[in-house]
Amino acid sequence: MLKFALAGNPNSGKTTLFNTLTGSTAHVGNWPGVTVDKKEGVYKKCGEPISIIDLPGIYSLSPYTPEEIISRNYILDEKPDCVINIVDATNLERNLYLTTQLMEIDVPVIVALNMMDEVTRCGGKIDAAKLEKKLGIPVAEVSALKGAGIKVLMDKAYAASKTPRKGSTVLKDSALAHLINDVKIALAGSGKVDNPLFHAVKLVEMDSLEVEAHKELVQMIDDFKAIFTDNTFGADFEAIVADSRYQYISKNFSCVLTKPTKAEGALTKSDKVDRVLTHKWWGIPIFLVILFAVFHLTFSEDLLYLGAMGAIPETFVSLEGTFYEGMFGAGSIHSPGVILFNFLDSSMGGVSEALAGAMEGAVADWATGLVVDGVLGGLFAVLSFLPQILLLFLFFSILEDSGYMARVAFILDRIFRRFGLSGRAFMPMIMGFGCSIPAMINTRTLADSNERTATIRVIPFFSCGAKLPILTAIAGAIVMNFGVGNADIITYSMYVLGIATAIVTVLLMRNTTMRGEVPPFIMELPAYHAPQFKNLMLHLWDKLKHFVKKAFTIILASTIVIWFVSHFSWGWNYLPDAAINESILAGLGQFVQPLFTPLGFGSQLNAWGWVFVVAAVTGLIAKENVIATFGTLAACITAGFAADEALEGIDSVVQMITATGITVPALLAFIAFNMTTIPCFAAVATAKAELNDKKKYHATLLFWIVTSYVVGTIIYVIGSWWWTSFLFAAAIALAVFLIIRNNKHRKCPFRKYKKGV
Ligand code: GDP
Repeated sequence: MLKFALAGNPNSGKTTLFNTLTGSTAHVGNWPGVTVDKKEGVYKKCGEPISIIDLPGIYSLSPYTPEEIISRNYILDEKPDCVINIVDATNLERNLYLTTQLMEIDVPVIVALNMMDEVTRCGGKIDAAKLEKKLGIPVAEVSALKGAGIKVLMDKAYAASKTPRKGSTVLKDSALAHLINDVKIALAGSGKVDNPLFHAVKLVEMDSLEVEAHKELVQMIDDFKAIFTDNTFGADFEAIVADSRYQYISKNFSCVLTKPTKAEGALTKSDKVDRVLTHKWWGIPIFLVILFAVFHLTFSEDLLYLGAMGAIPETFVSLEGTFYEGMFGAGSIHSPGVILFNFLDSSMGGVSEALAGAMEGAVADWATGLVVDGVLGGLFAVLSFLPQILLLFLFFSILEDSGYMARVAFILDRIFRRFGLSGRAFMPMIMGFGCSIPAMINTRTLADSNERTATIRVIPFFSCGAKLPILTAIAGAIVMNFGVGNADIITYSMYVLGIATAIVTVLLMRNTTMRGEVPPFIMELPAYHAPQFKNLMLHLWDKLKHFVKKAFTIILASTIVIWFVSHFSWGWNYLPDAAINESILAGLGQFVQPLFTPLGFGSQLNAWGWVFVVAAVTGLIAKENVIATFGTLAACITAGFAADEALEGIDSVVQMITATGITVPALLAFIAFNMTTIPCFAAVATAKAELNDKKKYHATLLFWIVTSYVVGTIIYVIGSWWWTSFLFAAAIALAVFLIIRNNKHRKCPFRKYKKGV
């Protein structure tokens, strides 16, 4: 079967084109590096079926990132019948940089000028025929998103694949043209090397892979270096080659582009929005406000603050005590997230009540206990948060797909580069809001290995979907039991705390054990897009599937185990609910409990206090387990609640509070501890594989334990004795001062590429 490879910059629309060609439904997003894995599919609408291989998104064929090496080796070794180079037409000059390198390989190449709909919409034009002539390879205009021009592209690619092609270069006017030619002749003369032009250029750049492969030719280049000087770049041949490419591109290809008809220098809509959203000072506050709005819509009991302002219309107040109030609120108006939560919660409550009624008397007491309290109690405690989790992810997907999340990385890059961290590292971190596992894999785009290790370590602090039930249930219980705060403000603060912990610890690492240079990060800000409904639904569907699958496998199994070890003593005798303090689980919990005294959920709690420690430990299997464990144990802790009733998350936490006497600061410390400690097994396994170094992996586990312990302690201590905050603030200020002083010499080589249109 014919093989066509898709190559292009991150964000050029490769995934979208791949999906259009192969009909597969892969995730489509705005973050560079989404397509790290190799994806294959089949295109069937040409003369014969064609296998399509999606290469990772790359900016160049240099050997600095795994993506670049994968793509380069694939094209050189597997020799596809045609390379479809997908080019973002709204960012033409930047994208053609890769094209000029692909052209040097002896393989048929065709340029797919993507996002033509966007160019036209902005009033721009591209003379594709002229571009084709200048490049010397076929060009086809397409819009992967709208599915326009695909057939023509594939027909042209099919035709191209039938004619062998010799590599050509745009470096003919470069100061190094002669040298390249000489090296090429030497390589070709040896008779053993395919693609002599490509290898010659790379060798002249002193590309590490080529130097390794052709040691015998290095002397020739060194000799040339000795007699060569360049005013700007000295003898840095890599820089000279890169510069020659850019010069050629801007001299020859800018004429194919007709800028929008607006006055010269006029800003596109995207640029105007960016002026505000990526503003030097306002960028971060705006991000925090947007994040808060998301949390408010998902978790707030009082959406418009009508209740807080005492401004509830009469008609609403008169609904008090009705079904309407239970669902939508009457003393206030609930947010969409809370309304969805109420609907699901009330139906699940009905199911477990009905089941308890049916089983009672019909089967043994312990069986009712296992099914109703143990299994349903645990599962429902977690499942009841599903609507809010999905809603939060819907908002995150909208922010991601619209292109806003890329801006967040841009805003953060500007500041954190000074501290040894690039915006590129923030992309995987932000992905961590979804799940740590793909986020850790995504760190492969980071070239500096210390930056990569530091990033993998802090990814779990970007609270993932599985930690959401912990946040929501405890925040809800704090509001319900102590009457303080708002659930949305508490959950939001905890997210921000996670981000802050990540930033502080990563800065500490980058300035101590994990030092390293920050490579220049050329970031593309894709034009803002209206998110596609289909993509959003695909994201949600993925999330839903994953969550439900986990609930009925890992979490279900854990709740059963927890129920058994909490209802049997060391001598394997069955214990009734009231006696679970003598169970195996209680024994283990009580043994470790004193360790958590500085965090507020240790020895200061009464005889039931071990439940918090036990819950945190079950969270290592899957984070949802923390609340599932509360759900399973809730019915046994009878203080103030009727037993034999499966309780959803918030109620079961309230019950733990009443039974153990835990305080608000200790609850907050408990959330923070769970957010920043060792993540779930699956994430730990991923970290281990990605770090691929035993020492680093063990240090990482220790790092998670220490961080969570310190963060939990700080929260508990400040929350209990507010004046200690001055001590902590002084310590942090001192640390920041020392770091800044230490980093004065670091330059800020940030460059933002302007869009071509
Ligand atoms: P990849 O990183 O190269 O795989 O790029 P994606 O396929 O994820 O696309 C990046 C963004 O560009 C997504 O938001 C797409 O919806 C959008 N996009 C892709 N192709 C087109 C197109 O032809 N026109 C427009 N307007 N947007 C596109």
